[in-house]
Amino acid sequence: MTKPTLLDLDRQHLIHPVTNFRAHEKRGATILESGSGAFLRDASGRELLDAFSGLWCVNTGYGQESIVQAATEQMRRLPYATGYFSYGSEPAIRLAARLVELAPPSLSHVYFTQGGSDAVDAAIRYIAYYYNAIGQPGRTQFISLQRGYHGSSSVGAGLTALPLFQRHFNLPLPSQHYISSPYPYRNPLGADPQALIAASVAELRAKVAQLGADTVAAFFCEPIQGSGGVIVPPKGWLKAMADACRELGILFVLDEVITGFGRTGPMFACEAEGVAPDMMTLAKGLTAGYAPMGALMMSDAIYQAIAEGAGPELAVGHGQTYSAHPVSAAIGLEVLRLYQEGGLLANGVARAPQFERGLRDLLAHPLVGDARSRGLLGALELVADKEDKRQFDPALRLHERIAQAAYENNVVFRAFGDNILGFAPALCYTEDEFSLLFTRLKATLDQVL
Ligand code: PLP
Repeated sequence: MTKPTLLDLDRQHLIHPVTNFRAHEKRGATILESGSGAFLRDASGRELLDAFSGLWCVNTGYGQESIVQAATEQMRRLPYATGYFSYGSEPAIRLAARLVELAPPSLSHVYFTQGGSDAVDAAIRYIAYYYNAIGQPGRTQFISLQRGYHGSSSVGAGLTALPLFQRHFNLPLPSQHYISSPYPYRNPLGADPQALIAASVAELRAKVAQLGADTVAAFFCEPIQGSGGVIVPPKGWLKAMADACRELGILFVLDEVITGFGRTGPMFACEAEGVAPDMMTLAKGLTAGYAPMGALMMSDAIYQAIAEGAGPELAVGHGQTYSAHPVSAAIGLEVLRLYQEGGLLANGVARAPQFERGLRDLLAHPLVGDARSRGLLGALELVADKEDKRQFDPALRLHERIAQAAYENNVVFRAFGDNILGFAPALCYTEDEFSLLFTRLKATLDQVL
């Protein structure tokens, strides 16, 4: 019998996340072998310009030697330390303290997870604990945005308002509710930012009133919706939603899993609007994908209520073996150093106008209906008709043809099913790499025209 190839083994045994199983069996995997800076190399030897930072996470770019060193040193010294039962490790403690220094002043405590989904899940669990602790157990309803993405944990995927993550999974739960996405390009009220902001606030108020003001626990949102199609709300929207939550007496939970760590310019997107969330979820750029880690940050008021609720003896029963993993934490500390002292955040800010211009220039292309971005997070929306913004017939599978053409043009980005192309280049991109990105992107669009 011939020995199975890597592709055979993949088809036979590996389940890929968010992948059509049958199509994958036919097509097979694109096996990635190595990376350096903004480039990836696959098993066929093809060198690909990565315009998506892996999965919006490798914000530092690949092959950062100082991160490898930080991880190696920590693995040698102590590869694992539990956080349970009051044990801990130096890098985890230092990383928590560093995040508190960097985050909005409303957040002073950090719970570490393995990624974003379990950070959202931790938020949901701690919120339940909090309301029980303060004697409001009836606050069990959650509100999020249509097109929102908050991971795919068994409960959190109900706050993710994308059908793919709910169909056949018995979601959403009866306690999960949505309001409209703040989507300027497809807003029936037109592109007027103030009208859009006012409509979002009014919808949130109406939803809370409909559910019963004292039954609602929290509102979850991303500052810019990532997996929903890089929906960039108008400036002022985030602050208006935070203020509305405060007024309504519900918790405001900000999901900065994609938008954190310089992706939109500042360290966190909410900085630009001076927003003070009650909780914030983080992942991805926290360790730039060099090891898994996420975080849930919470206010002192929530922390203190949970502490009081547990009383002097009871442990708060939430935890994972790998919470606050010391190797991930050591990586996180070095990644944060690279963002700041290493100049990556500053480079991202300096390069953002070139990125924005490049996307905007493509509005002249016959396929492109909208171009939007903030910092180094952006999208092009392709339409069949620019006048009426009509979408392409899904039967054309245009997004698949685009992904294939991009690969042939040696560039990787995300082609969503509704023909929105998402971009999240690493913060280390040079001027030349951006030029290359737009050359290859234009060639890709021309190829599928
Ligand atoms: N929240 C947001 C906004 C995300 O974009 C993601 C992942 O893309 C998650 C949560 C889930 O994170 P993870 O995939 O690390 O579980």
